[in-house]
Amino acid sequence: MSKLYADIIINISHEALDKVFQYEVPFVLRKKIEPGMQVVVPFGRANKEQTGYVIRLSEQANVEESRIKSILRISEKGVSIEGKMIRLASWIRDQYGSTMIQALRTVLPSSSKIEQKQEKTISLFENADIESFLEEAKKKHRKAQVRLLEALQKEPKLSWNDVTGQLKIPRTTLKRLEEQKLIRIEVKHQYRNPISFPQSKKEVPKLNAEQQRIADEFQSDFEKEYYRTYLLHGVTGSGKTEVYMAAIDVVLKKGRQAIVLIPEIALTYQTVRRFYERFGDRVSIMNSRLSQGERYDQMLRAQNGEVDIMIGPRSALFTPFQNLGLIVIDEEHESSYKSESVPKYHARETAIARASMEHASVILGSATPSIESYQNARTGTYHLWQLKHRANPGSTMANVSIEDLREELRAGNRSLLSRRLRTLILDRLSKKQQIMLFLNRRGYAGFVSCRSCGHVLKCPHCDVSMTAHHGNRLVCHYCGHQIKMPKYCPECQSPYIGAFGIGTQKVEMLVQKEFPGVRTLRMDMDTTRKKHSYEKILKAFSNGEADILIGTQMIVKGHDFANTTLVGVLAADMSLYANDFRSSERTFQLLTQAAGRAGRGNLPGDVVIQTYNPEHYSIVAAAKQDYEMFFEQEIAYRELLMYPPACQMMVVFLNCSDPDTGETAAKMLGEEIRYQFHDMEGLFLLGPSRASIIKIRDLYRYVLYLKHKDYQSLVLIKNHLEEYIENKKIFEKAAVTFDFNPMIGY
Ligand code: ADP
Ligand code: ZN
Ligand code: ZN
Repeated sequence: MSKLYADIIINISHEALDKVFQYEVPFVLRKKIEPGMQVVVPFGRANKEQTGYVIRLSEQANVEESRIKSILRISEKGVSIEGKMIRLASWIRDQYGSTMIQALRTVLPSSSKIEQKQEKTISLFENADIESFLEEAKKKHRKAQVRLLEALQKEPKLSWNDVTGQLKIPRTTLKRLEEQKLIRIEVKHQYRNPISFPQSKKEVPKLNAEQQRIADEFQSDFEKEYYRTYLLHGVTGSGKTEVYMAAIDVVLKKGRQAIVLIPEIALTYQTVRRFYERFGDRVSIMNSRLSQGERYDQMLRAQNGEVDIMIGPRSALFTPFQNLGLIVIDEEHESSYKSESVPKYHARETAIARASMEHASVILGSATPSIESYQNARTGTYHLWQLKHRANPGSTMANVSIEDLREELRAGNRSLLSRRLRTLILDRLSKKQQIMLFLNRRGYAGFVSCRSCGHVLKCPHCDVSMTAHHGNRLVCHYCGHQIKMPKYCPECQSPYIGAFGIGTQKVEMLVQKEFPGVRTLRMDMDTTRKKHSYEKILKAFSNGEADILIGTQMIVKGHDFANTTLVGVLAADMSLYANDFRSSERTFQLLTQAAGRAGRGNLPGDVVIQTYNPEHYSIVAAAKQDYEMFFEQEIAYRELLMYPPACQMMVVFLNCSDPDTGETAAKMLGEEIRYQFHDMEGLFLLGPSRASIIKIRDLYRYVLYLKHKDYQSLVLIKNHLEEYIENKKIFEKAAVTFDFNPMIGY
């Protein structure tokens, strides 16, 4: 039997993760040992006993075998929270592909170089006989001691700074008094608290019958220690957040903790405040606007039991709660739950894995569940909950109409606005009600081309067209490269060169021209670059400082504007042309969310969807707000073309600064897979081929697509490729990464 080795780290600070030591696993421990376990090993020259964590097992020795020491025993300390996170990292490494160090960096909080704020205090030791000691100190003229003790008799707790500063007490004196158990020196970490809310506990609304039935079922399951994954499918405004909070209540009452994942873009003051009002300062948040130090502190507070609820984007999933009971993922269909860097893990799958390791429940919530999750709910892998009505009794679903832009053109209307949308805007302006105009710009750039020869201006570093900005600059959205707008076509010198398509800026200009005196606000990448600008715009709009809010997909995320009674979608189909299999799904989600913005208050709402594809199922279903109808069509399409979830998919992606090397390396991968796995039943391999954008930032891009019904079969191939790559020099120049069930097109 071959030997088994374990990679062990002694110190799990973020900085020391790459200090890995290999030990042999003794025969008696072979069956017991696994990543995350604490073990005792002989360490250093003196072979002092040290506790370390197992991070990986392998059958290969990295150094000469005779130099490898053996693990002594499994530590009796049991499984710590660090151990649990290491086990999760190991799972991530296996399922998505990365080095163990990359996986550990993903799950372990990165400590801050910033000095932690400390509060050091000095107080009298209880039961100390101060009086007699003071008397003696006075006799012996120990002035410093007398000064300190008298001060402490007046004020039971003094700060270290005051004592060593104002009172001028030498440190040696303090040390001595501490040793004699007369005083106590305490160090308390002061954690940076990212937000403070006014303490105004609001009354908990009484759940309606639909909500209550779900909350009851959760409570009964949880109390029976029946931990499941639930999919809460509820129309926009149906009161999903109230259900999450009811479930969290159950979990906290059992002395356990909860993580709530919310997409970064929806993590606004409004959403967070609701949790604070309900749970007070047992709540903490994480987001990219916090400093690294602040984020680290939130992790420590969670680990020390100072908070019970962590709200945050994807990375909050790794909050080191000791006794996690529930993970909620709101807007579970959002693509931001998939990591864009290696390891390319999906927070939904990873949450379910963590919950299963720690015996916790998972609630996934959405008005437009991902096709994967809904399919899982239908087959019984997840338990389905439905909320079919809006929670606010006064509000109803909006009245949606589809406007065919080809018809408009035939009728001689060349404006951006269909006749119906224009009429409705005028109506709402006269009633002093508010309007949102949504420009779906995904897969759609204001590209610049020549009208004489058709030449399209492309970025010299990336294989993409440049986008016009402010009419005189061209910008590459992939690498940031900028040039001045040329006066003549670089190919044929024609002066007829210009930007096509339309951006939010242009829409704003046109709207102002068409409705003189109208007050507009714009929300897009340009206007939300600054800190808090996103929230400022939303606040201004909700205060009625503008009549029309114009924006990209940013504006469609769950905000409640009671006075907004009209939503216009200017070009609904743009996201249909993106080059990935999720484009219909994304279009349906965006349109449904946009439609959900109208009529949230007590006023009835209208939604106008303008499109060139009025009969496309994603548009028809969104207009009807009919999720089931969309799902049926979409799952049929996925099954026909063997796309997830009908099949599992792995993208092997390769990039390289030299196209010849890149092509050779990609071919080698293809040949290796065909050679090694030719008899694996049910495997499909496509490629290698060039990525649809062949070059980004001067790196050439290649892809291979693999499909199989069984995820673990793809993992097997990934594992083999990881080993194959390690031993070939060419892959030092051609970087290979893996992406399972991708959210983006390649
Ligand atoms: P979702 O998360 O599904 O979009 P929310 O939880 O934000 O829905 O609820 C939408 C609105 O309805 C909110 O203003 C919320 O306060 C209100 N609401 C939710 N549940 C109830 C209830 N049971 N009774 C009264 N109002 C409710
Ligand atoms: Zn030209
Ligand atoms: Zn570029």
